[in-house]
Amino acid sequence: MQEMRELVDKLNKYAKEYYVEDNPTVSDSEYDKLYDRLRLLEAQSGVVLFDSPTKRVGGEPISAFQKHQHLQRLYSLDKCTSKEELYAWAKRVNLTSDTKCTVEYKFDGLTVCLTYKDGKFQSASTRGNGILGEDVTAQVLTIKSFPLTIDYQGTIEVQGEAVMRLSVLEDYNKTATEPLKNARNAAAGAIRNLDPKITEKRRLDIMFYNVNYASDGGFTTQSGCVEFLKKNGFKVHPFLKVCSGIEQVIEAIDLIEKERKTLDILTDGAVVKIDDYNHRDFLGFTDKFPRWAMAYKFEAEEVTTILKKVIWQVGRTGKLTPLGILDPVELGGATVKKATLNNYGDILRKKVKIGARVLVRRSNEVIPEILGTTEVFEDSKDVEKISICPYCGTTLTEIGANLFCPNQSCKPRVVASLTNFACKNGMNIEGFSEKTAELLFDKFSVTDFSELYTLDREKILDLEGFKTAKTDNMMSAIEKSKKVPLENFIFALGIDNVGKKTAKDLASRYGDITALMKADVNDLIGIEDVGEVVANSIVEYFADPKNLSVIDKLLALGVTPEYQSVVKGSVFAGERVVLTGTLLDFKRDEASKIIESLGGTIVGSVSAKTTLVLAGENAGSKLDKARALNIKIIDEETFKSLINT
Ligand code: NAD
Repeated sequence: MQEMRELVDKLNKYAKEYYVEDNPTVSDSEYDKLYDRLRLLEAQSGVVLFDSPTKRVGGEPISAFQKHQHLQRLYSLDKCTSKEELYAWAKRVNLTSDTKCTVEYKFDGLTVCLTYKDGKFQSASTRGNGILGEDVTAQVLTIKSFPLTIDYQGTIEVQGEAVMRLSVLEDYNKTATEPLKNARNAAAGAIRNLDPKITEKRRLDIMFYNVNYASDGGFTTQSGCVEFLKKNGFKVHPFLKVCSGIEQVIEAIDLIEKERKTLDILTDGAVVKIDDYNHRDFLGFTDKFPRWAMAYKFEAEEVTTILKKVIWQVGRTGKLTPLGILDPVELGGATVKKATLNNYGDILRKKVKIGARVLVRRSNEVIPEILGTTEVFEDSKDVEKISICPYCGTTLTEIGANLFCPNQSCKPRVVASLTNFACKNGMNIEGFSEKTAELLFDKFSVTDFSELYTLDREKILDLEGFKTAKTDNMMSAIEKSKKVPLENFIFALGIDNVGKKTAKDLASRYGDITALMKADVNDLIGIEDVGEVVANSIVEYFADPKNLSVIDKLLALGVTPEYQSVVKGSVFAGERVVLTGTLLDFKRDEASKIIESLGGTIVGSVSAKTTLVLAGENAGSKLDKARALNIKIIDEETFKSLINT
């Protein structure tokens, strides 16, 4: 009983922070763990405390908003996190191999419910406690993508998820004084904000998935309901799989799990719903959720933990990057001990303090990142701003929000540039690792790339871990690397702001290294995607006599960068292509590769230099711009037929 009491109190505190204040202090996975424990104790004891969160849907509306009574009660969703639980649900609801179910994305934002009467938009509200929501009409009216008039003439309430697109969040955070921690809080905080001007700045979108009430009785299937939404101009995600039986449901969930990473919208799972409404009526609802639906939640990507200290790393350009050392925490099947912060300015903006609770995100193989601070304690301390390099003791310089070590021979700088020089996108020296770079620096003071081509085999044999075979392999890999594609050579030089894509663009524009060395800023900014900052970095790099001497030495030692032109005469030869919207049968990366392999160049944004736009579903502003500029547009079907010719 005492544990139950403590859990209820804790969960109620967290729920208030989450639903009412839109400012959670713990992650969803931590909340869900405590919630599941409470559910278990309640089931075992048969006791449910009067204020238990297991009885409630969401949060009570806050009084600052007018209340809105939903025409039909809104529910939450039952959830599971494993296939076993999904099978158990299928059994409970008697799902046979003929039972039709729909599988959709579960978008992670804030539920909004829109009321229409006589074909006209009337009001918008939050879910609130399911019966009463908050009237957020003024806030929702700042969203451009939902219809104000619809064909349907009865009274209707439609339900969708208000979301902040990930790209919009990223843009917003670039200039925000206090960055938003994640897309869910960003959307919820925007809708439940008393000032619609703030909502407008967050440029939200709504993805619709349900008609909650229709005066003429509504629909007979979920797929029919979604069709209706589309026909009446509501934005619906194109992914809706109608499956027969649980095996097909699982296949669809696996597909969602794979593809969700390519979406510009935060998702936290998939929703399975029984398609047939008669079947649904038979199953009915519990206090909290429909029995005919189940949310399958994917492994969490965010967790909170305590920041123990911050250490500073020096990169190739001398830039110092703070790295947060964390109280180890399990996340997505791995123990996370470290997470990145961008720079000192980022520490200040995110209000990060030593000893505070921070929100950490880890997605795919990306290094975990500290998104923000969720709780500061009395003994939390400010992160100290350092003034000398922790590695070489040189006084640091400050440029914008960043600190730099100006010493070009500072060990981590040299090690990082040698590693970058040798990496796959650079000279592609097989077997050359960061450790090798460190050994070469420590033992032979190697600082300049050209020294790699004059290494003495006997001396290498003396290095720790270098036996005959390893030494010979490295020597021959170094020799082999001399014949190098121009784009790799440009990348290997480690010019500030020149990554793989820019290196490739420069190679195709200039065709040889000496021509690039002579290019001026005006010439460089003529290249699509090369702006002034990049152009200046390039010009500055080639103006430095030290860099020129290294290049001279490399060429004299037999390094021969060669430009290898792309296939000519292919379907996309000469085309500068922009991809926009969601493709149904291709991942973006995949489509980009196909276009490039057929001679096209992929560009990020639509401009007068763009020659072709491949537009998938739900394409937005890029498509509008392409139309305005009269650029040729093709859809996925045309794309497929072109690549098959
Ligand atoms: P939920 O958000 O997990 O699922 C229900 C919601 O999913 C619906 O209301 C709807 O808005 C949304 N949804 C998205 N796509 C949908 C689709 N295609 N079909 C139907 N619905 C769709 O449940 P909830 O009750 O809103 O919130 C409970 C969850 O909130 C908890 O499991 C927890 O993860 C989180 N929470 C966290 C804290 C915290 O402190 N971190 C506190 C309270 C709750």
